Amino acid sequence: MAGKIGNVLHYINGEFVEGASGNYFENVNPFTNEIINEVTEGWKEDIDAAVRAAKEAFDNGPWRTMSVQERMTYILRIADLIEKYAEEISYLESLDTGLPISQTKKQAARAAENFRFYAEMVKSRMVGEAYHVDGQFLNYTIYKPVGVAGLITPWNAPFMLETWKVAPALATGNTVVLKPAEWSPLTANKLAEIIHEAGLPQGVFNVVHGFGETAGASLVAHPDVRLISFTGETTTGSEIIKNSADTLKKTSMELGGKSPVIVFADADVEKALDAVVWGIFSFNGERCTANSRLFLEKSIYDSFVEKLKERVNNISIGDPMDPATEVGPLIHRKHWETVMNYIEIAKQEGAEVYSADVPEELKKGNFVPPTLLLNCHNSMKVAQEEIFGPVMAVMPFETEEEVIRMANDVKYGLAAYVWTNDIKRGHRVAQSIESGMAWVNSQNVRDLRIPFGGTKYSGIGREGGHYSFDFYTEVQVIHVSIGDHSIPKFGKIKQHSAASAQRG
Ligand code: NAD
Repeated sequence: MAGKIGNVLHYINGEFVEGASGNYFENVNPFTNEIINEVTEGWKEDIDAAVRAAKEAFDNGPWRTMSVQERMTYILRIADLIEKYAEEISYLESLDTGLPISQTKKQAARAAENFRFYAEMVKSRMVGEAYHVDGQFLNYTIYKPVGVAGLITPWNAPFMLETWKVAPALATGNTVVLKPAEWSPLTANKLAEIIHEAGLPQGVFNVVHGFGETAGASLVAHPDVRLISFTGETTTGSEIIKNSADTLKKTSMELGGKSPVIVFADADVEKALDAVVWGIFSFNGERCTANSRLFLEKSIYDSFVEKLKERVNNISIGDPMDPATEVGPLIHRKHWETVMNYIEIAKQEGAEVYSADVPEELKKGNFVPPTLLLNCHNSMKVAQEEIFGPVMAVMPFETEEEVIRMANDVKYGLAAYVWTNDIKRGHRVAQSIESGMAWVNSQNVRDLRIPFGGTKYSGIGREGGHYSFDFYTEVQVIHVSIGDHSIPKFGKIKQHSAASAQRG
């Protein structure tokens, strides 16, 4: 698999093309901090060209008008090709992001599933409503694609998150302009190659690489883009909402998190331990639903922390390409600095910092040691802000009421995890947490049919299942008269109003 990786170009109107400016930016390997390749830098001109192609394909192309069966044949072909290239996709993803290969393999498989799932959903679940109204009317609803969909994605699970948006957007008949994260362009480029090979009509799918403030912002501002589906930081989401206001776009916001995991003393402690460790250290801690705040009932605090320390010491830190690696390097040196800075802040705030050792030979990479911030207080910066690395704040609690209050005392509301063998308490606590999603006695496992998303500063709207249809389609109602209903007869007979009678 290893070998020189070519430079990355945009994919516009069915062709791989250099950006109008001719500028390129460097793409860096997080394991070595050496340059992998260069990426063409998109600006407004490139976004304009991609949107023009997507609009032409939407307005005049066959994509939205072809039979569902035919469109789904393309969608299923994309799924087949993702499976065919799964090994290459996971290799590129690990090379680009530092995510361990054992984890990117699962993401590639999941990406193929995203296309299969939406092919099936469009056929079976895109159903409207019909009302027979007093024998006078038939009212029915239909779902129509919105138009050109702008999709903006982050670097933490790029291929999975891109396909999670691209699959429902295309399956419902929209055309797409994807702006992937600048730190992880490789698998977005592979997706363009796959879609090209699948033979989709020109302009249906386009990719423009580049930076958020230029390429991303131009996509958001473009008047012919009808919706923006965004996954990324809360502050970026808020900026995008403001910038999309002038052109009244539909937006879907999947944003940051600082999710609590609560372990009661009556829980299955070994299982809770597995879930807590996996939930914060998988994906190198760069997971939006990571359980980055651990609340332990006081009576098990010491024993649980001892077990956590043991696990942290045993975690395999290493080369993302090694199948045994559990934690790899963070995406970029800049992000590494941010996360390391949070560990310093934790010390200044008085937390006890417990970190694994990063072997000397790995130090050229962006490795942050798996870290526990012990005896935190909920008001500390490190217990309130999203760190987005392998770092977990740990806090004791005494009562159910207290832990619910602490869990909710944060601006985010993405996920929550509750561990208890008291079934009533499990439901009660999960329902009391202000989060879009909660798991009882489980780590984050998801079925594609259910909604995904957050509340508070973690997002607006839901994606997944039929919720994606609400976003990627417009519902239109058709009112048909089937009876002989009366219609007001304005202007048929000249009426004299009281005022004109007086004047007369
Ligand atoms: P980011 O917000 O920095 O960037 C995300 C994307 O937005 C990139 O493609 C970037 O180029 C683009 N962008 C930046 N500024 C823009 C602007 N002004 N206009 C348009 N586009 C712009 O996020 P990131 O650092 O890439 O990703 C990490 C964040 O993503 C974390 O906060 C994480 O929690 C969040 N995330 C959320 C979910 C979820 O489903 N809720 C999933 C994964 C990641």
